[in-house]
Amino acid sequence: MHLPDLSIAKERGKKENKYITLNENYQKVFTGQKYFLRTYGCQMNVHDSEAIRSYLEVLGYSPAEDINDANIVVLNTCAIRENAKDKVVGFLGKCKYLKKMKDNFKIVLAGCMCEQPDFIKEVQTKYNYVDIVIGTHNIHDLPKLLLQDLDTQKIEVYSNSDEVIEGIKYKRDSEITAWVNIQLGCDKFCTYCIVPYTRGRERSRKKESIIEEVKHLVNHGYKEVALLGQNVNAYGKDINEKFSDLLEGVAKTGIERVRFVTSHPWNFTDEMIDVISKYPNIMPYIHLPIQSGSDKILKKMNRRYTKEEYLELFSKMKERIPNVAITTDIIVGFPGETEEDFEETLDIVNKCQFDGAYTFVFSPRIGTPASLMKDDTPINIKEERLHRLNELVNKYSKLNNQKLLNKVVEVLVLGVSEKDNNKVYGYTDTMKLVNIKGSKEIIGSIIKVKITDAKSFSLDGEYIK
Ligand code: SF4
Repeated sequence: MHLPDLSIAKERGKKENKYITLNENYQKVFTGQKYFLRTYGCQMNVHDSEAIRSYLEVLGYSPAEDINDANIVVLNTCAIRENAKDKVVGFLGKCKYLKKMKDNFKIVLAGCMCEQPDFIKEVQTKYNYVDIVIGTHNIHDLPKLLLQDLDTQKIEVYSNSDEVIEGIKYKRDSEITAWVNIQLGCDKFCTYCIVPYTRGRERSRKKESIIEEVKHLVNHGYKEVALLGQNVNAYGKDINEKFSDLLEGVAKTGIERVRFVTSHPWNFTDEMIDVISKYPNIMPYIHLPIQSGSDKILKKMNRRYTKEEYLELFSKMKERIPNVAITTDIIVGFPGETEEDFEETLDIVNKCQFDGAYTFVFSPRIGTPASLMKDDTPINIKEERLHRLNELVNKYSKLNNQKLLNKVVEVLVLGVSEKDNNKVYGYTDTMKLVNIKGSKEIIGSIIKVKITDAKSFSLDGEYIK
């Protein structure tokens, strides 16, 4: 198997971005037809699906609640999660059946799996009933492809594109909070991660376009934007800009809340910390993946920082950003992880007392360097480590949440609680979920809430009018 090494990142960094501004008008040729869109994976895919939805609706399709009512199905796939492929392939079986039963039924595959050559070969042979395959770089080609004659399978996947597409229209999931792409791709090449191969090299959108997009959202009543990138701190390195300047520019647009995901500890600068602490509308919330507390494992992961360096950055954030909440990601059972290495991870959790953590058992992604490493930790040991880790993480989440008991916090209300119709839910500026007794009228507002109960994963509160 050919695996790109780090020299590829250097080579990729020398290339110039090609900025393309879309200005397309499509006719509603599919009016009366329905689409069913299923999204797998991360926020990046969720946001890409907002573009897919917009393209489908521009062409006249309307959403179908039930796949059986659809004329077209789009699967926006993920290559990161374990068994992601099984899920997609399982769903394709259902689509194949519908295609047999219905005239002109179309199947579209999009997302990260489509950037994997082995999967494309399978689509051409085993799943040749799929009509269109598009990659992560060319979602904007979907309307053109749909307007073509689909007698033959259309596969349009541009690997590692240098393009940065501006002017993509989104049909957003929310009218209150919006994702805004600022940066695409990743050149970090963490050894367990498929993203640098599926999403291409790091490319930044132009600062002015991002700020214009945020201003447009403010004018349309949005309260919060989340700046989105595989590694937002890498923003601007390719175009002589800085993430701290972009963040400042966005904070000045008048948006009530701004946050960002995800940050790599390796290039989180002091200037970024200064800007976050200076602007009250930049949410004091940072997701800062540590992945492991062992220097040996961090090196094998190619994370480019040590445990000490992470702790130093963490302390700086805590000192300089008032009331900051910091969450993290941790992988247990990475190849070569010993009990001592794992205890280093528990040690850093004890030292940092994170507000929350996404924890995973290592599972190899085909095509990554880590998939070729000897993985000799039995699964029962990995699971036992995960269990111990989760207990510790949950203990600190709860302790951090309990610090808010009887305090009054500001909550952006996003919707009706799924568990209780008489409650609404929202988030504090530190991204803590709060369930509040209240009616639908307060959805979309930032309200004051007194915290009455604190659990590991959520808070309960009373609306203070
Ligand atoms: S920084 Fe994030 S996206 Fe990039 S390779 Fe590492 S884990 Fe993957």
